[in-house]
Amino acid sequence: MGLEMRATCERCDEPLFANGLAYICSYECTFCASCTRKLTHVCPNCGGELVRRPTRV
Ligand SMILES: [Zn+2]
Ligand SMILES: [Zn+2]
Repeated sequence: MGLEMRATCERCDEPLFANGLAYICSYECTFCASCTRKLTHVCPNCGGELVRRPTRV
């Protein structure tokens, strides 16, 4: 259990930093901000809503 912090966007392979801006769905599909905008905040894998990934504490 627990969030796996993926290091790249699943769509464009852009590097994502643990404390940078990234979006994630409830199944932990991870996308960068520009892809999330193009996907209109809907995960293309599972249809879930993409929300901002919490930054590392
Ligand atoms: Zn991307
Ligand atoms: Zn998903």
